[in-house]
Amino acid sequence: METKWNGQACPMCRVGTLHDGIKTITQDYKGHTFTSEIQGAFCNSCDEGFVEFDEAEETAWLDFRDLVDASEAAELARDALSRYERGKKRSVSTVINLFRLIDRHPELLGYLKTG
Ligand SMILES: [Zn+2]
Repeated sequence: METKWNGQACPMCRVGTLHDGIKTITQDYKGHTFTSEIQGAFCNSCDEGFVEFDEAEETAWLDFRDLVDASEAAELARDALSRYERGKKRSVSTVINLFRLIDRHPELLGYLKTG
């Protein structure tokens, strides 16, 4: 489907022309890189463009951030849990949070076992 921007002069740089296309973008989140393909009309001169909203792409990005947050939380929880096991610090709420997390993200059990 053609966007309304296809063939228009670029309003950002006023030099280039916008063309429909697909662009691969990478986004960084807490040191993790997410790569996705976005559709839109992009300038052939300045690299700016208008991106079509893509629900699947948006969902993938949110899932990615969720998983990064979850692994980060699992990391913290694993630390807290080992401190708890060694009796240095009682942190019951952390353990409860850990179980909630595993309930939501069963794949995290892999992280815990290997650590
Ligand atoms: Zn431009």
